This record gives sequence, structure tokens and C-alpha cells, in this order.
Amino acid sequence: MTAERAHSGVRPVVRRLPETLVNRIAAGEVVERPASALKELVENSLDAGARRVDVVLRDGGRTLIQVSDDGHGLDPDTLSLAVERHATSKLPDDDLTHISTLGFRGEALPSIGAVSRLSITSRAAGAPAAWRIRVEGGAVGAPEPAALTAGTRVEIRDLFYATPARLKFLKIPRTEQSHALEILQRLAMAAPTVGFTLSDGTRTLLNLEAAQGDLFEVRLARLGAVLGRDFAADALPIDAERQGYRLTGYAGLPTLHRRTSAHQYLFVNGRPVRDRLLLGAVRGAYMDFVASDRHPMLALFLELPAEEVDVNVHPAKTEVRFRDAGLVRGLIVGALKHALAEAGHRASASVGAATLGAFRPDGLRAHTGHAAPAWNTARWTPPPSEGLAEAQAAWQAPSTDRVGHTLDFGAAPAARVENAPADPVAERHPLGAARAQVHGTYIVAQTEDGLVIVDQHAAHERLVYERMKDALAVGGVKSQALLLPEVVELEEAAVDRLVQRADEFAELGLVLEAFGQGAVVVREVPALLGKTDTAALIRDLADDLAEVGDAHALKDRLADVCGTMACHGSVRAGRRLSGDEMNALLRQMEATPHSGQCNHGRPTYVELKLTDIERLFGRR
Ligand code: ADP
Ligand code: MG
Repeated sequence: MTAERAHSGVRPVVRRLPETLVNRIAAGEVVERPASALKELVENSLDAGARRVDVVLRDGGRTLIQVSDDGHGLDPDTLSLAVERHATSKLPDDDLTHISTLGFRGEALPSIGAVSRLSITSRAAGAPAAWRIRVEGGAVGAPEPAALTAGTRVEIRDLFYATPARLKFLKIPRTEQSHALEILQRLAMAAPTVGFTLSDGTRTLLNLEAAQGDLFEVRLARLGAVLGRDFAADALPIDAERQGYRLTGYAGLPTLHRRTSAHQYLFVNGRPVRDRLLLGAVRGAYMDFVASDRHPMLALFLELPAEEVDVNVHPAKTEVRFRDAGLVRGLIVGALKHALAEAGHRASASVGAATLGAFRPDGLRAHTGHAAPAWNTARWTPPPSEGLAEAQAAWQAPSTDRVGHTLDFGAAPAARVENAPADPVAERHPLGAARAQVHGTYIVAQTEDGLVIVDQHAAHERLVYERMKDALAVGGVKSQALLLPEVVELEEAAVDRLVQRADEFAELGLVLEAFGQGAVVVREVPALLGKTDTAALIRDLADDLAEVGDAHALKDRLADVCGTMACHGSVRAGRRLSGDEMNALLRQMEATPHSGQCNHGRPTYVELKLTDIERLFGRR
């Protein structure tokens, strides 16, 4: 059809498009949906120095978007100018390299006016009266006197009535409303000293008080109000600076993650952005701690000299380009890694809260839709008393003199822990004194003011991983020679895969070589694993390799490899541990950074405070 037209012989006429049409074309980019129109209006309010912004949406913004602010307002002449294309008060020096406002393109109001019925009522600060101007489908009226005590009220009615094609793409009001809410929340996070409300005409959907105090206080208050108390409780403060670039904000502990990156809130010079470079840096920083399909929650604010960043990339102004992308990336990765390392073994407090929720019979019902099970069905199985010492001696990892290169959970077999007397010294440790092991899987420890439940396998997996990483950094993982080298039979392809990577495995403390047809012989295993089922480990590693493919170095897939190794190491789920072993594991966790979550971002332990437990039983 295009080709037909090109050859039809009629010479096309080039002409200037009428202004309204130009504005409608621009509106296609600037105003994608009610939420984007709302964003432009609220940005204008913030640029006008508003301390309060009140929003009303009807039908998800389809019939009405109303934004009222107490900013500096507009006089009647400026009102007429403001709805003209490319008219702005925000580039006083015609300088695009020093943008300090959210707006600067001067096209939001004319674009919106071209596709809706727009009215702006405003009273300039100190002016005796208010004025209103209307724009209907691009037709601009004259300013007329109106009633308003201060600030500006902008109303958009019947968005896209003039562009039916776009109107058809609007989703149901609830969907549009949630997009609008999300936009408003993002802007509100960047402006914690401004109060915001959102209503649908009958109900208040959002009410954020203007916060006061120092930067971190107001920010945390606002982030908590928007993202929930979980976030405020489980976020680490970030404050880092490099060459005049400053990164502040709050980063969620790795156990605070979501299915999409929608809860990663990033701001550049106070502007909410969705930027691939920034998201990539965040992903890189958390790579070790969160499964690749999960996304930690965080809110990061990057401040840098205006001339170092180009915000004029797209009409919606949510993309940016950095002059020094490497510096930005390094700052983010460095700051996040530092904060996560400082957090040490800390796991999310919200995990404890969720656990308590699950304990409560009504919480259970709410979560599963089933009635709570009768508590008396839980069965108590006493641990075997004989054979324990033997079993333990058998798996005990040999201690080595290279500090940190072995996971040695105590030397001598201990007394049965469930009868252990209270140990006030151990209880003073953050993870407390081990009191029992239940279901061969969980360690229950008593702390000074509560109790801790540790998933022993997840914790051990994490410890193995952290040790291997440290050891690799200083030249290799300590290995332990097997008294009898173990021959493991495998398919030919699996043998090839393993042998090809023999050097890499050696660095990880696993020494193997080909052994005739369809077999490998294993001579040494990583010492920190303790007694391992070598054959099972080798088979699983061969499977891992099939999945990893050739492209990745094993070091880059260390989390997977360590997971597999830890699975065959000493502290696997189902293994009974002595009291000393358990306590040693707790102490190791406390001393190991990042041990609060496993390699997949699941918590390795939960903590319940005594006060919460008392509440559970109605004692408080
Ligand atoms: P931009 O924000 O890029 O300048 P807009 O079309 O959004 O372009 O707005 C045009 C101008 O109208 C702004 O530069 C500003 O001077 C004025 N303006 C818009 N909204 C408000 C408001 N709520 N309070 C005061 N002035 C406003
Ligand atoms: Mg604007």
C-alpha cells in the first residue's frame, strides 16, 4: 500500500501542521495515560514550590484529574503563555545543561490541552484575585476572573476525548488509578517535605503528611509511609560519595525482595527515573544475595552536578544519560555492597513478623484459606541417645590452621542440648544459645529477649559460599585429601564436562581427573565441607555444568556450585547436630557477612521477640 502510494504519481504536498495537531502529536509521547498527565501536573506543582499537593481522580482519571497546590501561582498573562507550546519559565538562561526543575520542555500543558478539556485556575502570590483559563481540544480561551484563595488548581476533564484512538487504549479505571497512585508515590518519595493526598472523589487513597527533620529522618518517614513499615524496618541506610556524586537512600535487606523490579525506586537529582544503567548496577550489587528472578526493594537518590547528567532524553523525562556512567555504576555497586556487608548476619525483621502472623490461628486461616490445624497434632520425637557421638565424629570437619578456611563447628561431642542449662553467656550473642534441634532441620536458640529459629542447611550453604568466596580471593580453597581416592562412574559427556573444568574445580578445593572410560577419580575435596558423599556431589556438579554451559566461569556461578557442595556437606538438612555443633554454627553465622539469607534470598533464620511471643499468648 505504501509502495502504491509512492508510485501513484501525485506529488505530496509539504505543509506546516496546525498547532493543535502538533500538540496532539506531542501529547502522544508526553501523555500516554492518565498517570502521565498527573505526573506532569504534580511536577509543575513541585516546581512551583508547593508544600501541599491534593489530587482527585475520577474513573481512574478518565473523566477528571484535578491537582491543587499552594505553590507560587500564575498571573493572567502567564496563564495564557503557559498553555502555549514551548513556553516555560524554567530555562531562564536557555541553558539545557543546568536543569534544576522537574519540567523544562514547556509542552505538557499545551499537549494536555490539545487532547482534553483543560482548565487552570491560579492566583499568583500576593495578587488580589485569581484567574482561570480554559483549553478545549486545543482551542484556547481568554483568561477570566475566578475564585481561588491561593496557589493553582488544574483540572483535566475527559482526557483523550479529542483523540479517540488513544481513548480506546485506556484500561479499566481501577488499573489506571493504580498507575496514577504509583506515579504519585514515586514523586512523593522524592519530596518528603511536601504533603500529598489522593482521592477518588469519595475515598482517600493516599494521605502523606509533610515530614520534618533531617534528610534521613524525613526520607525514612516518607518511605515507610509509602512502602510500608516492613521496608522501614528492613532497609539499610545508604550514604556514599565519590567525586561530587552522592548516593543516599535506603536499600532493603536481601530478604526483602519482590517478583519484579517495580519496587526499585531510583531518583536522579530528585527526579524519579527508570534507568537501565541504575537497575543494572543494583542487580550487580545484589547478585550474590538474591535469586536472579527476584528483586530487592530499595529507594536510592543520586545527586550529581546538573551538567553531568542529560535529562532531555525522552519527552516523559524518565530516562537519563550520565556523562560518567562508570562512576555512577561504581558508586552504586560499592555503596550497596558495603551496606550489605555491614549488615552482617542480620536477616529481615519482617520475616519474624510474618512468622508470628503464621503462628496466629487467624493469621493461618487468612494465609491459606484453611482452618488452623489443631496444635496437639504436632508430634514430639525424642532424639536417639546412643550413636550420637559416633555420628558426629564421623562428619566432623578436620580443623585446619588456616583461619577461616574450614567450617569447624566445635570439637568435642556435646551433652544432649535439650537438657542443657541456660547459658547466659551464649544467650548474649545475637543469635543466642542453641536449645534444641527440631525435625533434624531447625536449630532453636534462646536469645536474651526472644528466640531464634535457624534453617541449618540454608545457613550452612551460605557459610560455605562466603568461605569459598573469601578463599578464592586469597588464592584457593583449602582442600582435604581423601585417604582412599574415590572413583565415580558417569556418562562420557559428564566426565568430559568435569575434566574440562578440572583446573577451576581445583581452585575450589575439589581435585579430580579422568579415570579410564566413563569415570573420574576424586582425590581431594574442599575441607570446609566436612565429610561428604563424594559420588553424589560429583554427579550433581556434572548436572550443574550441563546447565551452566561453557560460557560461564564457575566462579561466576559460585552460588550454584556452593549450593550443590553445601548440599553434600556436613550440615545438610536431616542431620542431627550436637549442642556444640549448633552453637558453633550460630557463632559462625554471626561472624559471617551476609549470612542472614541463603544464596537465593531466603532467610537463614527468623527471630521472635519475647514480647511478640507474649502477645501471641495474650500475656500483653
Ligand atoms: P514546563 O513544566 O516544562 O515548563 P508546562 O507546560 O508543564 O511546561 O508548564 C508551563 C509553565 O506553566 C511552567 O513553566 C510554569 O511556569 C507554569 N505552571 C504550570 N503549572 C504551574 C503550577 N501548578 N504553578 C505555577 N506555575 C505553573
Ligand atoms: Mg511541566
